[in-house]
Amino acid sequence: MKKILIVGGVAGGATAAARLRRLSEKDEIIMFERDEYISFANCGLPYYIGNVIKDRNDLLVQTIEGMTERFNLDIRNFSEVIDINRLSKTVTVKKVKTGETYQESYDVLILSPGAKPIFPPIEGIKEASNLFVLRNIPDTDAIYRFIETKKPKTAVVVGGGFIGVEMAENLCERGIKVTIVEKLPQVLAPLDFEMAQIVHRELNAHGVNLVLGDGLLSFANNGRTINLESGQSIETDLIILSIGVVPENTLAKKADLLVGPRGHIAVTAKLETMDASTNQVVEGVYAIGDAIQVKDFVSNTDTAIALAWPANRQGRIVADIIHGVDTQYNGSMGTSVLKVFNLTVSATGNNQRTAEMKKIPVQAIHAHRNNHASYYPGATNIDLKLIYNPETLEILGAQAIGQDGTEKRIDVIATAIKLKAKITQLSDLELAYAPSYSSAKDPVNILGYIAENVIAGFYKVAYVQHVSELEKQGALFLDVRTPIEFETGALPGAINLEVDQLRSNLHLLGDSKDRPIVVNCQVGLRAYVAIMILKNLGYTNLYNLSGGYSTYKAFKYELNSAAIGAIKSAKVDETTGMSTPTALHDNSKVVDVSGMQCPGPLMATYKAVQDINEGDGVKIIATDPGFAADVKAWAKTNGHDLLSLNLEGNKYIAEIVKGKKTQAEQTQSNQENATIVLFSGELDKALASMIIAQGAAAQGKHVSIFFTFWGLNALRKDVNVPVKKNFIERMFGFMMPRGANKLPLSSMNMMGMGALMIKGLMKHKNVDQLPIMIKDAQALGVKFIACQMSMDLMGIKHEELIDGVEIGGVGTYIANNENVGTTLFI
Ligand code: FAD
Repeated sequence: MKKILIVGGVAGGATAAARLRRLSEKDEIIMFERDEYISFANCGLPYYIGNVIKDRNDLLVQTIEGMTERFNLDIRNFSEVIDINRLSKTVTVKKVKTGETYQESYDVLILSPGAKPIFPPIEGIKEASNLFVLRNIPDTDAIYRFIETKKPKTAVVVGGGFIGVEMAENLCERGIKVTIVEKLPQVLAPLDFEMAQIVHRELNAHGVNLVLGDGLLSFANNGRTINLESGQSIETDLIILSIGVVPENTLAKKADLLVGPRGHIAVTAKLETMDASTNQVVEGVYAIGDAIQVKDFVSNTDTAIALAWPANRQGRIVADIIHGVDTQYNGSMGTSVLKVFNLTVSATGNNQRTAEMKKIPVQAIHAHRNNHASYYPGATNIDLKLIYNPETLEILGAQAIGQDGTEKRIDVIATAIKLKAKITQLSDLELAYAPSYSSAKDPVNILGYIAENVIAGFYKVAYVQHVSELEKQGALFLDVRTPIEFETGALPGAINLEVDQLRSNLHLLGDSKDRPIVVNCQVGLRAYVAIMILKNLGYTNLYNLSGGYSTYKAFKYELNSAAIGAIKSAKVDETTGMSTPTALHDNSKVVDVSGMQCPGPLMATYKAVQDINEGDGVKIIATDPGFAADVKAWAKTNGHDLLSLNLEGNKYIAEIVKGKKTQAEQTQSNQENATIVLFSGELDKALASMIIAQGAAAQGKHVSIFFTFWGLNALRKDVNVPVKKNFIERMFGFMMPRGANKLPLSSMNMMGMGALMIKGLMKHKNVDQLPIMIKDAQALGVKFIACQMSMDLMGIKHEELIDGVEIGGVGTYIANNENVGTTLFI
């Protein structure tokens, strides 16, 4: 018979106690808990505050009486263990209510004291009477009471971790306007930034204001004012402080047990504690739960994970070890799941940031897949990211954000990681399928297929974070979605060539087959098809933008732009005295695109607005979580009035009135074309023409450049092309600069030195040289017309010009000059 003492009576402690009793009827088991309650549902506390869990008793998973009766335990609440005497194998216990202390001896001691919220000693914190932390039932009761009695209208949650985000949602459920302040540039650190952005959008869409990348400085006015490091101050009725937890290690440190760099109790794989001076195992003293340091299962480095699964698992394992079972704790992966309003946010293993910090080789892939067959009603999108080691093919981690079935995918990947599966084995997992649950190729299989393509070298992966870097390297951005999808938003400078039109429009990609081409579609699939076409046609430098435009759009999400509610207030037109509508007519068209995935809802909106007259309205109902941000930006860019944007359940309801364009806007919209007449054969002027032409083309204008006289020199090939010429023509050809590389500066040319200096500067500043600019302009669809008459006069032949130049006369110029808003003579 053993006498076993347990410190802490909640997740780890209570699990260990129950398992110990199941393994032996003989042992004496005493469990000490400092507070009143044992084995309560910590994880449910925020939901009780939000009135989602209505009955407080539901939080009390086990009562002392119930657990004592079932497991024959000696449970002592309001009993704090304040000392461990390792030599005498006794602990000192303080009765919290009376202050009385006594000794209790042990054969085995298990420490499961958990972790406590960080409470920094910053100015004004003690005086802040409206400030709370959340760890246990008394904390919960205090917050609940404050809300009931003080009826706060506003709250600031400091810290955007799991508890902070859950609290923000639940305070919103109570009708409180919430701001989250977070020092990092994102909430939920287990996610990579582009994934966290999806959560930001969801929080904003539900009215949570985000202040990111800004730290807490001080509190003033008894907590009514929060001062931030940036100088910003926020007025608030209620503060929840959730900036993280630290291990409860006072007892362990007093007993000279070894702790790690962040204060967690160091343990062996058998959960044995160690002596701080000798690092030797301390016989009979074990530690589990939030308080301990564990191995990161993926990287085998030291870490600490404050989650319920590890605490419960360790509780069971420690009991087994005490009873001689040959087992050990294999490390934690931090598999987690969280509800953020209508989204499920789930992750496992290392994220890209962490893996890179640990210098592990990393390849990341993104996918956006429906949770089940799209033809079965109610399919919703899951945004997935998977990280693996391209050298060993080990899976390092994964993140998923969606609705139904999201955490299932993470659980499958977590299982694969635990069983040391390679990334290439994901496609071979035979997963359950019926249309209402999944697809014959489950999203997890798809991640495997994508990884296989990358491993096979079909393409390189470009990350949204690296777009501007690739741009500087002269990459061409090719968007192979439909023009309507392209219209709803695209990468800057991208050219749009639908995948099915690709083969017949290759000339738009320029001459070089080695130029980096970054291909994107909405999610990556059509881009893959396009890449395979190009690859088989000899293009060598192909990138697939990981996650496609969907990931790019999430990455670029503008903080706090997805807020919902009444958007437009009544506005009186000064000339007519009429007020603009603030509500739709009853007979307005309603388009319900619930269940449709991005960009479907936006495309449906585009079509619906196209079909109505100016001043008429349409109501769009969508469930896509990105719709709130999308529709706001789209309406603004296209000059329509977004009257309101509301959320009912999981449905976003947008009311849009088709914009009545002003006279100026109408004139502008007619001016779709721009023409540049380039007379000059000088480098600076040719550069200016290309910059203007590219800018106009990127704005969707049809641009043509009419090269005449000396301007023709910019179009000449830089090699000598054997063509038949008379003597004068040959002389002329010899004296004129051959091609864009040879053009002189208009002033300060200094026998070519000035031009060389400018080119050097351009290189230094990462500005493309003229020949590249010329190609880029062509790729953007800028039409080059060489003046026939000037060519004849100067003896320049068609063969001497670069590819893609049309030869034309004044007729061609005039034809291209119709509907022109801008004509420049350079
Ligand atoms: P705890 O369960 O915290 O238990 C430690 C107990 O020890 C405490 O009751 C403490 O009073 C007692 N104690 C400490 N020192 C002494 C002493 N000297 N003498 C006597 N008693 C002592 N995890 C998830 O995986 N998913 C979730 O959704 C989730 N949600 C959470 C929500 C909230 C609000 C909180 C606070 C935590 C949540 N967690 C969640 C974390 C999870 O609850 C913890 O990881 C888990 O409870 C840790 O178990 P533990 O036994 O180590 O510590």
